[in-house]
Amino acid sequence: MMKGFRTAALAVGVSFCAPAAAWAAPVNVVASFSILADMTRAVGGEDVAVTALVGPDGDAHVYQPTPADAKALAGAGLVVVNGLGFEGWIDRLIKSSGYKGPVTVASTGAKLLKGADSHAHNHKDGQDHGAVDPHAWQSVANAQVYADNILAGLTAAAPDKAEALKARHSAYRAQLQVLEEEIKAGFAAVPPKERKIVTTHDAFAYFGKAYGVIFMSATGVSTESEASAGDVARLIRQIKKEKVKAVFVENISDPRLVQRIAAESGATLGPKVYSDALSAAGDAATYVGMMRSNAKAFSAALTAKN
Ligand SMILES: [Zn+2]
Repeated sequence: MMKGFRTAALAVGVSFCAPAAAWAAPVNVVASFSILADMTRAVGGEDVAVTALVGPDGDAHVYQPTPADAKALAGAGLVVVNGLGFEGWIDRLIKSSGYKGPVTVASTGAKLLKGADSHAHNHKDGQDHGAVDPHAWQSVANAQVYADNILAGLTAAAPDKAEALKARHSAYRAQLQVLEEEIKAGFAAVPPKERKIVTTHDAFAYFGKAYGVIFMSATGVSTESEASAGDVARLIRQIKKEKVKAVFVENISDPRLVQRIAAESGATLGPKVYSDALSAAGDAATYVGMMRSNAKAFSAALTAKN
C-alpha cells in the first residue's frame, strides 16, 4: 500500500556536538493541490514547509506545470499527490524535475467510486465509464484516510518528529469526525427525495454518497470536456422534471454555463461551492472550512421555501 517511502538522507556534515533536534529544519513538502497542502499543514504544523503546485481556486484537471514547479519539486523532501488520475501531469513533472524522493498517494485505501456511478443520473455515453472518480476527498471519511497517509509520509520523512506529528494527526482526525457528524445533521431536515443538486462538473459524487444527496452535472468527472448543447438541454429538462431546487457554480469553473441552466430551468442559483480547490481566504480556505461551507450552501438551498 504505502510502498516507495524512502527517508531522505540527512546531510549532517562534520558537526559532532549539536543535538539531533538542532538540524531538524521543517520538511519541504510539495502538495499537488491546495486541499492536500492544507491537510499536510494540519498534520505537519511547524514541522513542514508546504508548497501547493495548484493553488486556491485553481483547476488541477487541466493544470499546466511551470518551471517553478519543477524547482519546488527538486528541493522537496516529500511529495503528496491525490492519485486516481486527478493530476494527469504529475508523473511527467516529477520525472523532469529529477525528484527521486518519496511520494505519498493520499487516496491510498480510501473508499472509491467509479466515475460511472456519478453519471448514473446524467449519462454521457463513452465517457469515463469504469474509471475511478478522483474526487475522493469530498467525503470526510475519506479525508480521514488521507490524513492517515499524510501522517505516514511525514513520519517517514521526519522520524524525529513522529510524536508531534501523531499528536497533531489525532487532533485533526477528531476535528474531521466532528465535521462529519455536523454535515450529516445538516441534511437530516431535508427529505431524501428532495436532495437533488446540479453543479458544473461531477465533483460531488463522494459527498452525495456520504450524505445522501444526488448530484447532477453538465460535464463529466473532469473539466477537460465541455458540455454539448444536447447535454445542457437534457439537464434542463431533467431539472424541471425532477424538481431540482438549486444549481451551483464551483470556484474552479466558468459560471456562465450554470447561470444559463439556472435561468432556463427556473432553479435557484446558489452561492459558490468548492470542489477541487480551496479559496484563497475566507470560509473555504481550509479543508474543514470548505466542507462546512459547501454543506451549508447545499442544505440551505434544499430547505429554502420557494
Ligand atoms: Zn474535478
